[in-house]
Amino acid sequence: MEKISRRRFLQISAATFGAATAATHLNVPFAVAATAKGGGADVKTVPTFCEICFWKCSGIAYVRDGKPWKIEGNPLDPLSQGRLCPRGTGGIGAYYDPDRLRAPLIRVGERGKDEWKKVTWDEALQYVADKMKKIKAEHGPESMAMFKHGTGARFIEHTLRAYGAINMAAPSFAQCRGPREVGFTLTYGEGISTPERTDIENARCLVFIGSHLGENMHNSQVQELANAVGKGATIITVDPRFSTVAGKSKYWLPIKPATDIALLLAWMNVIVTEGLYDKAFVEKYGHGFDRFAQALKDRTPEWAYPETGIDPDTIRATAREMARYRPATLIHPGRRSVWNGDDTQRSRAIALLNALMGNWGRKGGLYVPASMEVPGYPMPKYPKSTRGKADNPGKKYPFAEEVISTGVRAATISGKPYPIKGWMVVGTNLIQALPNRKETIEAINQLDLLVVVDTVPSEIAGWADVVLPESIYLERYDELMVETFRRPFISLRQPVVESPHDQKPGWWIGKKLAEKLGLAEYYPWKDIEEYLNARLVKAGLSLAELKQKGVVLGPQQPIYVEDGAEISFDTPSGKVEFWSQRLADAGFDPVPKYTPPDPNPPGAFRLITGRAPVHTFSRTQSNPLLIAAMPENEVWVNVQVAAKLGIKGGDYVKLKNQDGVVSNRVRVKATQRIHPGCVYMVHGFGTESRMWKSAYRRGASTAQLLTRYKTDPLMGGTSIHSNFVTLEKDA
Ligand code: SF4
Repeated sequence: MEKISRRRFLQISAATFGAATAATHLNVPFAVAATAKGGGADVKTVPTFCEICFWKCSGIAYVRDGKPWKIEGNPLDPLSQGRLCPRGTGGIGAYYDPDRLRAPLIRVGERGKDEWKKVTWDEALQYVADKMKKIKAEHGPESMAMFKHGTGARFIEHTLRAYGAINMAAPSFAQCRGPREVGFTLTYGEGISTPERTDIENARCLVFIGSHLGENMHNSQVQELANAVGKGATIITVDPRFSTVAGKSKYWLPIKPATDIALLLAWMNVIVTEGLYDKAFVEKYGHGFDRFAQALKDRTPEWAYPETGIDPDTIRATAREMARYRPATLIHPGRRSVWNGDDTQRSRAIALLNALMGNWGRKGGLYVPASMEVPGYPMPKYPKSTRGKADNPGKKYPFAEEVISTGVRAATISGKPYPIKGWMVVGTNLIQALPNRKETIEAINQLDLLVVVDTVPSEIAGWADVVLPESIYLERYDELMVETFRRPFISLRQPVVESPHDQKPGWWIGKKLAEKLGLAEYYPWKDIEEYLNARLVKAGLSLAELKQKGVVLGPQQPIYVEDGAEISFDTPSGKVEFWSQRLADAGFDPVPKYTPPDPNPPGAFRLITGRAPVHTFSRTQSNPLLIAAMPENEVWVNVQVAAKLGIKGGDYVKLKNQDGVVSNRVRVKATQRIHPGCVYMVHGFGTESRMWKSAYRRGASTAQLLTRYKTDPLMGGTSIHSNFVTLEKDA
């Protein structure tokens, strides 16, 4: 198999580092856990895994004269395959971030006014424990909720569960991957999971619908995409914007925003009516195919044309192209799948189109992931709650598989079904992560306690009562990483250097807080090394081995199913559900239906958002290496539209949404590469936290403009492409 060069990988990742990071690429030979001389300095190498995003690639960190110097991919790691992405490479800048939280803080003034006193860890944790005990006594332990993101939250969550908390919300569900997981689970009985089970590098036809891989930088997927491109795979990209991957595509379909379901139905209509689907797969594994085909019969390319703006010939040609290469045709399920409020059905339509390709468990399709078994550490059982979770009373969203963040927020505002009086927020900037920040602040004002654990003074930290500074990923141990992937493996995060100030790792914070709460029995180990080693020994490994290698591979397992193999799907029918009786019984469409989106108000543009390859939302906004690579975002405006508005590329504008909210100033990118009905900005910029000095008001915030959202009726996900803006030139 042809492997990509680093140059091709970076071409696809759409960004390279300039002078700012060049100094981190000095040529030091790879040596795991070795000590070498580099430029007259003492250099040691320590394997660990990255936390600049959730992909968790393993790397080898180089430490020179006691300071992190650079980080490279660990060649043993199946995820990174020896290469890190641009922001992972620049992740070392997190250590040098001038705005890092340095010591625990307790608020002394009004919430949100940034008036703090520095305290010791003992004082901070005692304060938190006393407040938590009071909340438990007055309202019950369920009234303490948690919002979490990242590996560092693991032990703090453990402490909260030991205390009796049950409302643990990850915004990555209702604000990101939830509709996809639910849509695929309704169809196949299981989701796509993380890292995605997509056999990109063996696909002969790849379809990206709303997924801008390459800007959305998930390392191994981008490497696989580069390999697939190198092998001549046909790429079909559907996006209102000519994205990086559109530039690698045979077909770019510049769809009218919010009409994806119409295109998906028309594609399936062509594939079914022309008999191009995998009949053997459908016959053996499909359920309700006839009713599905009947539901599609009027959804022709001619019907879809006025909705999507994609001409019928292109719809037919691309549908036939997909069928030509099946089962090695992969319609990428995407990741952020919260768009317009009908997102579970949109993801289900993607799942069904994949099913027509017969690619489940097939090379170039959706493979069967492998994993290793690592037993847990014996712990006392968590207390049982007699109350249900607060986020989804009466199962209003019947297919929600996880706690809905905006549901916890709504319960905090209303006090129903019971009061939520405390939030523990770990590693997620809720002011940017949730739509409608007014509602978030309204909820915060109902709280008796808001604790924020973070590495930087994010906007949510500005609203906290107590801020606990977490060590960055280069300074701490975390829970073992045992993920499902094409090759099973375990990887270790371990400290590369010590924290420079009074920061502490999540496991330490969780343990010490448990002791203050009288829950020490939930930490029957002296320190994290003892805990990790005990788990690894049970798996026939040792901490010493992981510390040395960073990654241990398990035996290769089959990831493809054989022709005609017996597969049982975990659905009510035991088959792939082309028609879903579960959905019909719950009052939803058993086959996805299309609803036209709200029209643009006169003179306004739909605001669409995405990611950049050198930042992870707002969390990297003060990393000096990543700022140097991308200091601010831009607003993409169609060049003819810009001309009509009297705006040129490079001008600064402010965006005003339908509710009168006005953004910070942001520079215009006037381009042919975007549909005239929308404008586009990268998410995560324009922070309003004054404590976050090097990030403060750089670029404009998309989150600030998301005052409106639609809620997915199946699982409670909140849409992020439901707002419209006008542009005003900034003097
Ligand atoms: Fe780090 Fe990049 Fe891997 Fe994310 S994809 S874990 S940022 S190297």
